Amino acid sequence: MLADYAVRVEYSRGRRHPEPPHPYRNDFQRDRDRVIHSRAFRRLEAKTQVFTRRYSDHFRNRLTHTLEVAQIARTIATQLELNVDLVEALALVHDVGHPPFGHAGEKALDAVMREHGSFFDHNLHALRIVEDFELRYAAFRGLNLTYEVREGIIKHSHDYSIEQFPELAEYLLEQRPPLEAQLIDLADEIAYTTADLDDGYEAHLLELRAIRAGVPVFEGFYCEAEKLWPNVLEKLRFNEALRHMLNRFVGDLIRTTQQRIRAARVRSVDDVRKCPERLVSFSAEVDEQRRQAKAFLYSTLYYSPALDSEKVEGERVIRKLFEFWIAKPESLPSSYREKAGQEPLPRVVCDYIAGMTDNYIYEQYEKYCRR
Ligand code: MG
Repeated sequence: MLADYAVRVEYSRGRRHPEPPHPYRNDFQRDRDRVIHSRAFRRLEAKTQVFTRRYSDHFRNRLTHTLEVAQIARTIATQLELNVDLVEALALVHDVGHPPFGHAGEKALDAVMREHGSFFDHNLHALRIVEDFELRYAAFRGLNLTYEVREGIIKHSHDYSIEQFPELAEYLLEQRPPLEAQLIDLADEIAYTTADLDDGYEAHLLELRAIRAGVPVFEGFYCEAEKLWPNVLEKLRFNEALRHMLNRFVGDLIRTTQQRIRAARVRSVDDVRKCPERLVSFSAEVDEQRRQAKAFLYSTLYYSPALDSEKVEGERVIRKLFEFWIAKPESLPSSYREKAGQEPLPRVVCDYIAGMTDNYIYEQYEKYCRR
């Protein structure tokens, strides 16, 4: 059952290289499967989300975070009668462009690229991965994904201007993306906000008292859990409060988006695209709760001194390796040496580093930079 404003696979703008239809999987299902079978997807397992492996094997990494986003996004999409196959493909691909070492890695790569008059952006990198770097098919480079999945990658949590990025013109930058793509941003936020509270608490970097004081929506549900479960482990009451918080965010997002769809009178994907603003959104009240939770995580966890040394180390590893390969491009693998003939060397080195897992980049650092 698809709503009239959902993307229909039979109206997809298709692939760059036309392919014969598959006997029992539609094009968005095939895109989802192509993402899962890609190298970049498998590497998410060894890329840092917030906590490195030093903390615990059961904290989120980029792969398990991605699966949580897909789970939340599927729930929302089903309730809104959107195209769940497309949503799943978009959720699974949404973080493949992230470099090693989480946001510290992104910052470091961007900083070294700016010294060469360029920049690093994880959405643009993700697009290059699916368009060019993945080598799985004899007939073409990349995964040859449908237009709608590529558009979703580019319109994830960021608006690019046509003046600055004329090469992205085919993605209709002046238009909103379909609802399937819009909901990924917020499913992502719901997933990481709740997960980071969870892992931060388990890592003993966030104290229950501080969370209760700093995240009012959590506090409300924790008080209820205390009344209902006075004699269980604190962590179980914590879990109860957190899952109610997640449910509130998801439920509110579904209801608010339904209201906004009705109010905007959208009847087709075209109407969604031409809307002056994105329609997937929280209510003002829950948006404020989300903002408080996020602000709390920024002030207590993301910039916590406990995580500092690893961030500094990550940034140093990236900078040293980048400088090493700029000075000695002959040490790059042959496929990247060849690319340096067609593209500026800093971009080639940046692409190589951005694709690495945390483990692999440390190995490279040991090999080339440890004196
Ligand atoms: Mg994410």
